Amino acid sequence: MMVKEYKPGRRFMARLDHDADLLRYLEEFAAKNKIEMGYFEVIGAVKSGAIGFYEQTTWSYKTIRYDHHLEIGSCIGNFSIRDGKPAVHAHVTFGDDSGKAFTGHLMEGTKIFAGEMVAVELLGDRLERVPDDVTKLSLWRF
Ligand code: ZN
Repeated sequence: MMVKEYKPGRRFMARLDHDADLLRYLEEFAAKNKIEMGYFEVIGAVKSGAIGFYEQTTWSYKTIRYDHHLEIGSCIGNFSIRDGKPAVHAHVTFGDDSGKAFTGHLMEGTKIFAGEMVAVELLGDRLERVPDDVTKLSLWRF
Protein backbone atom coordinates (compact mmCIF):
# COMPACT_ATOMS: atom_id res chain seq x y z
CA MET A 1 0.00 0.00 0.00
CA MET A 2 1.34 3.43 -0.93
CA VAL A 3 0.12 5.91 1.66
CA LYS A 4 1.47 9.06 3.27
CA GLU A 5 -0.08 11.07 6.05
CA TYR A 6 -0.63 14.84 5.83
CA LYS A 7 -1.84 17.57 8.11
CA PRO A 8 -4.33 20.19 6.88
CA GLY A 9 -2.80 23.58 6.16
CA ARG A 10 -4.53 26.69 4.84
CA ARG A 11 -8.15 26.57 3.69
CA PHE A 12 -9.37 28.70 0.81
CA MET A 13 -12.68 29.75 -0.66
CA ALA A 14 -12.54 31.40 -4.06
CA ARG A 15 -14.84 32.83 -6.70
CA LEU A 16 -13.56 31.74 -10.10
CA ASP A 17 -12.79 34.22 -12.89
CA HIS A 18 -15.40 34.60 -15.64
CA ASP A 19 -14.06 33.36 -19.00
CA ALA A 20 -10.94 31.74 -17.50
CA ASP A 21 -9.97 28.20 -18.46
CA LEU A 22 -10.86 26.02 -15.46
CA LEU A 23 -7.76 23.78 -15.56
CA ARG A 24 -5.38 26.76 -16.05
CA TYR A 25 -7.17 28.66 -13.27
CA LEU A 26 -6.59 25.76 -10.85
CA GLU A 27 -2.90 25.47 -11.82
CA GLU A 28 -2.36 29.21 -11.44
CA PHE A 29 -4.20 29.19 -8.11
CA ALA A 30 -1.82 26.50 -6.78
CA ALA A 31 1.28 28.30 -8.12
CA LYS A 32 0.22 31.73 -6.84
CA ASN A 33 -0.55 30.39 -3.36
CA LYS A 34 2.46 28.05 -3.27
CA ILE A 35 0.32 24.97 -2.68
CA GLU A 36 2.35 21.78 -3.22
CA MET A 37 -0.21 19.26 -2.02
CA GLY A 38 -3.91 19.63 -1.41
CA TYR A 39 -7.38 19.01 -2.72
CA PHE A 40 -10.32 21.03 -3.94
CA GLU A 41 -13.90 20.98 -5.08
CA VAL A 42 -15.62 23.32 -7.52
CA ILE A 43 -19.27 23.91 -8.38
CA GLY A 44 -20.65 26.36 -10.91
CA ALA A 45 -21.30 26.61 -14.62
CA VAL A 46 -19.22 26.72 -17.80
CA LYS A 47 -19.73 28.15 -21.29
CA SER A 48 -18.02 25.13 -22.85
CA GLY A 49 -16.36 22.00 -21.55
CA ALA A 50 -13.66 19.47 -22.35
CA ILE A 51 -13.22 16.11 -20.68
CA GLY A 52 -10.91 13.21 -21.32
CA PHE A 53 -11.47 9.47 -21.35
CA TYR A 54 -8.31 7.40 -20.90
CA GLU A 55 -8.11 4.53 -23.38
CA GLN A 56 -6.39 1.87 -21.27
CA THR A 57 -5.35 -0.27 -24.24
CA THR A 58 -3.74 2.53 -26.28
CA TRP A 59 -2.61 4.61 -23.26
CA SER A 60 -4.00 7.81 -24.64
CA TYR A 61 -6.75 10.30 -23.80
CA LYS A 62 -9.75 10.71 -26.05
CA THR A 63 -10.96 14.31 -25.63
CA ILE A 64 -14.70 15.02 -25.67
CA ARG A 65 -15.70 18.66 -26.22
CA TYR A 66 -19.00 20.35 -25.47
CA ASP A 67 -19.57 23.69 -27.18
CA HIS A 68 -22.57 24.67 -25.11
CA HIS A 69 -23.44 25.78 -21.60
CA LEU A 70 -23.16 23.21 -18.81
CA GLU A 71 -23.55 23.06 -15.06
CA ILE A 72 -20.62 21.80 -13.00
CA GLY A 73 -22.37 19.23 -10.84
CA SER A 74 -19.04 18.36 -9.29
CA CYS A 75 -15.39 18.98 -10.00
CA ILE A 76 -12.99 17.40 -7.56
CA GLY A 77 -9.26 16.91 -7.65
CA ASN A 78 -5.88 17.36 -6.09
CA PHE A 79 -2.73 19.42 -6.21
CA SER A 80 0.73 17.83 -6.29
CA ILE A 81 4.02 18.38 -8.15
CA ARG A 82 5.05 17.44 -11.72
CA ASP A 83 8.35 18.52 -13.27
CA GLY A 84 8.96 20.74 -10.24
CA LYS A 85 5.74 22.72 -10.76
CA PRO A 86 2.24 22.56 -9.24
CA ALA A 87 0.11 20.03 -11.07
CA VAL A 88 -3.65 19.62 -11.00
CA HIS A 89 -5.52 16.36 -11.46
CA ALA A 90 -9.27 16.87 -11.61
CA HIS A 91 -12.37 15.02 -12.68
CA VAL A 92 -15.59 16.77 -13.50
CA THR A 93 -19.24 15.94 -13.95
CA PHE A 94 -21.16 18.32 -16.21
CA GLY A 95 -24.92 18.51 -16.55
CA ASP A 96 -26.80 19.78 -19.64
CA ASP A 97 -30.17 21.56 -19.96
CA SER A 98 -32.03 18.26 -19.65
CA GLY A 99 -30.13 17.27 -16.51
CA LYS A 100 -28.11 14.65 -18.35
CA ALA A 101 -24.61 14.14 -16.91
CA PHE A 102 -21.24 13.74 -18.61
CA THR A 103 -18.10 12.95 -16.71
CA GLY A 104 -14.38 12.53 -17.20
CA HIS A 105 -10.87 13.84 -16.64
CA LEU A 106 -10.83 17.66 -16.76
CA MET A 107 -9.02 18.90 -19.88
CA GLU A 108 -7.94 22.32 -21.05
CA GLY A 109 -10.77 24.00 -22.96
CA THR A 110 -13.35 24.36 -20.21
CA LYS A 111 -14.42 28.01 -20.10
CA ILE A 112 -15.78 29.25 -16.77
CA PHE A 113 -19.10 31.10 -16.64
CA ALA A 114 -19.20 31.25 -12.83
CA GLY A 115 -17.75 29.05 -10.14
CA GLU A 116 -16.95 28.62 -6.48
CA MET A 117 -14.04 26.64 -5.11
CA VAL A 118 -13.19 25.32 -1.67
CA ALA A 119 -9.56 24.16 -1.36
CA VAL A 120 -7.46 22.67 1.42
CA GLU A 121 -3.65 22.69 1.50
CA LEU A 122 -1.99 19.54 2.87
CA LEU A 123 1.31 19.74 4.76
CA GLY A 124 3.85 16.90 4.70
CA ASP A 125 6.24 15.14 2.31
CA ARG A 126 6.31 16.53 -1.21
CA LEU A 127 4.37 14.23 -3.54
CA GLU A 128 5.61 14.18 -7.14
CA ARG A 129 4.05 12.77 -10.30
CA VAL A 130 6.30 10.56 -12.39
CA PRO A 131 5.65 8.38 -15.48
CA ASP A 132 4.28 4.95 -14.55
CA ASP A 133 5.44 2.00 -16.69
CA VAL A 134 2.28 -0.08 -16.26
CA THR A 135 -0.45 2.51 -16.89
CA LYS A 136 1.63 5.05 -18.87
CA LEU A 137 0.04 7.71 -16.66
CA SER A 138 1.79 10.31 -14.54
CA LEU A 139 1.27 8.87 -11.06
CA TRP A 140 2.46 9.76 -7.56
CA ARG A 141 5.89 8.41 -6.53
CA PHE A 142 6.04 6.94 -3.04
ZN1 ZN B 1 -7.82 11.70 -14.41
